[in-house]
Amino acid sequence: MKTRLFLTAFACTLGLGASLISAAHAQGTELKWYKGNTHTHTSNSSGGDSAPDAVARWYREHGYQFVFITDHDEYLTDVEPLNALLGRRDWFLVLPGQEIGERIRRANGEHVGLHMNALFTTETLYPETSIESAVAPALAQGALVQFNHPNYVWSVKPADLDTVPDGALIEVWNGLDGINNLGGDDGQGDVRPSAEGYWDYLLSRGKIIWGVGADDAHVFKGESATPGRAWIVVRAPELTPDAIKTAMTKGEFYASTGLVLDDIVSDANSLTVKIAESESNPPRYLTRFVGQGGEILAEVAGLNPSYRFRGNETYVRASIIDSNGRRAWTQPVFRDGRAIR
Ligand SMILES: [Zn+2]
Repeated sequence: MKTRLFLTAFACTLGLGASLISAAHAQGTELKWYKGNTHTHTSNSSGGDSAPDAVARWYREHGYQFVFITDHDEYLTDVEPLNALLGRRDWFLVLPGQEIGERIRRANGEHVGLHMNALFTTETLYPETSIESAVAPALAQGALVQFNHPNYVWSVKPADLDTVPDGALIEVWNGLDGINNLGGDDGQGDVRPSAEGYWDYLLSRGKIIWGVGADDAHVFKGESATPGRAWIVVRAPELTPDAIKTAMTKGEFYASTGLVLDDIVSDANSLTVKIAESESNPPRYLTRFVGQGGEILAEVAGLNPSYRFRGNETYVRASIIDSNGRRAWTQPVFRDGRAIR
């Protein structure tokens, strides 16, 4: 039943016809959830304290099915030996990537430090001076691009992201300390939105952008270790690079800092989320359905929040928080006809 519901939601999101739905049913496509991290460093990055095999092993041993190794300093870590050591079919997969410290130049000559992940890359990428010139060589390799921690050292302003392409990912939660996920006001007129607010800024401009949670972990040893703080869960038919990439491209995943979602269902009338129940000491949940301009369209308590579309929304997404501060974010449902083509 979950598969049927999902395929309906999937088809609605993408604007696909009924023929594809029945074709998928006929093939008996079974979709599964795969937990993964899109932003991780090894000792091939400055500040990284653990060798690539130790980093991949950490994720394998902590309930993840995949991890992207995204070293910086213009270094693309080879994941093939990691998969030979730790990969196993439908069990665990190490994926390649890179974090590039772009040095974007504003029209007034100011420089902006903007960190971009290129996921699924095969060739080393180097910093560029505009988003277009940074994105082009990544997309030419078939990469997905992810824009990281927009409030890190308060470098990026929303308008700096105006040329982010459709299909890009943005970190709505980064697991490092001091990364300013929630935004803030400096008391002198400089107000920055939360990372989630940057997402709404881009969505409200008509873009197709998917929200991710990611660790950005550099330290895996000792008391200052930070892995396991934020991740995504992808719904795909199998754990292969192609299947994960296809699902991520279509936004078939949710982001989390601790909450587990059993299902996300959208049809012509509504968006409904099924939150997995905690086994003991149940917390309370609040889901905010968010639309154009970051407006909170509705707040719903409980494990099965649902929002009925009014008809004038451009997009609707669900942002969930529990009474312990753990969060999850669904991808937006587009109600204005925009779609990845
Ligand atoms: Zn990083």
